[in-house]
Amino acid sequence: MLDLRIDNALLYDGTGAEPGGHSLGVKDGRIAAIGRFEGEAAQRIDASGLALMPGIIDTHTHYDAQITWDGFANPSPALGVTTVIMGNCGFTIAPCRPPDRDLTMRNLTHVEGMSLDALRAGIDWGFESFPEYLDMIERKGVGPNVACFVGHSGVRTFVMRQDAAKRAATADEVARMRRIVLEAMEAGACGFSTTRSYQHNGEAGIPMPSRLADDQEMLALSGALREGRKGLLMMTKASDTPVPWIESLAAAADRPYLVAALLHSNLTPEATFEDLQHIAAARNRGRQMYGAVSACPLNFEFTLHEPYVFEGLAAWQPLMKMSEAEVKKALAAPAFRARLKEELSKRARRMFTGEWDKAFVAQAADPGNAGMEGQSIEALARRAGAHPVDFLLDLALSEDLDTLFTATLLNSDESAVGRMLKDPNAIVSLSDAGAHLTFLCDAGFGLHLLGYWARDKKLMPLASAVRKLTSEPARLFGIRGRGTLEVGNWADLLLFDPGSVGRGASKRVYDLPAGASRIDSPALGVHGVWVNGRLVADRDGLRKDAPRAGRVLREFSV
Ligand SMILES: [Zn+2]
Repeated sequence: MLDLRIDNALLYDGTGAEPGGHSLGVKDGRIAAIGRFEGEAAQRIDASGLALMPGIIDTHTHYDAQITWDGFANPSPALGVTTVIMGNCGFTIAPCRPPDRDLTMRNLTHVEGMSLDALRAGIDWGFESFPEYLDMIERKGVGPNVACFVGHSGVRTFVMRQDAAKRAATADEVARMRRIVLEAMEAGACGFSTTRSYQHNGEAGIPMPSRLADDQEMLALSGALREGRKGLLMMTKASDTPVPWIESLAAAADRPYLVAALLHSNLTPEATFEDLQHIAAARNRGRQMYGAVSACPLNFEFTLHEPYVFEGLAAWQPLMKMSEAEVKKALAAPAFRARLKEELSKRARRMFTGEWDKAFVAQAADPGNAGMEGQSIEALARRAGAHPVDFLLDLALSEDLDTLFTATLLNSDESAVGRMLKDPNAIVSLSDAGAHLTFLCDAGFGLHLLGYWARDKKLMPLASAVRKLTSEPARLFGIRGRGTLEVGNWADLLLFDPGSVGRGASKRVYDLPAGASRIDSPALGVHGVWVNGRLVADRDGLRKDAPRAGRVLREFSV
């Protein structure tokens, strides 16, 4: 007898093929039958009017810390995600020795947008090495399936301690890092990740360690994957990291390379397309290279207590080392403001574009300013006869930096984003789930692709959108037995209503350790999410009795 049969659903099998109207049967965690078949089942669901697809694979998450206290990697499973790839951008918490835990958390609190209190209260440090980390999360149990990169900054901090964010590595240090990468790959890491991005800073604005690596170190650590003959390379590039240089790393390692984060900017509208052209050219030369693109506009909700959006700007760098009292003084200083205005007037690839019509007052701290809520900084500044920089800083200072702003930073040009999503060299990714928690939530990127882009905007057939969320990432990472609806595959399933699928309005919730807040964006149109054949989420979100049905994935076929 089957454990489950889902009847009368429209089946999107993940290959991009036209959907068919059939039944699907599950037995012992795997898909046991598809099509028209007889057979009793312990549970039967009539899914008339609904669609069934493989669970979404989210290739760009940062759940490394959270998964140690929240095995379900909330909110991803309720948003249709059945497999998460962690450890992106080089930010892993393993390996890590006890004396370096505080340094690691101080780095993470910044790039992950999570309070230090939340990390200190939350992280279970029951490991030192990367293999011990994988063993620990496996022992504790995970809700979705989990795969993890071994991260450059984690490895660098392990070997170089405080010096990791200060200098180039010696030959001996590089050799030790290389051994750790190899050890992690043998234990089941899915690849090696790193970042060059100017946006990636630790406490007090010190760069994340991997940004200090020279070419020798990059070649040696990427090359470790050649020795192991497996795994994927992943880099979040900087505005001035040339794709041909990344290609040289891919060539030296003879491994596939995923290049992030290709987000479209109105200041440099051709830059992401040039990156994709370089990637296409590399592929013509036989390299397996892919660009990671996003289906979501990059919206940030922030106060100037945590001005992550501005921290990629050179003018802002000195402020990152200051106390808040000093920051307030600096924000009022004409010289700082002049430098900021000058930098924003230049066209460059950066996170904050300076488009003041896309920045808004979300919530004023002073009730007397409530009339500004929902209005753009550009409109408010024009009315006040002020420069937008002065208007924003004066308003924030007058409210003790408590003013809540929202800004759309990148990916706001829909025709450009549409072109990128359809690019054959692009992987739809970049949810950053588990990071930037106080600023945004794109964990529902997959539902957004299905509902907004495929259904509403008709950018691509629904079957193609499903393929981009399932079999494409499964093939790229070499995840076997998942990503398509096939007999014998694991029953990672998403049952949804094609007419209403999407993501709801975001809201702030306070469910992190130490009462810290995050932004949540609930699912629309999701009727059921199964991981390895077991129901973890339904129309009401993650089930109260959700099983830890996921597996720690350690075997990859690339
Ligand atoms: Zn990232």
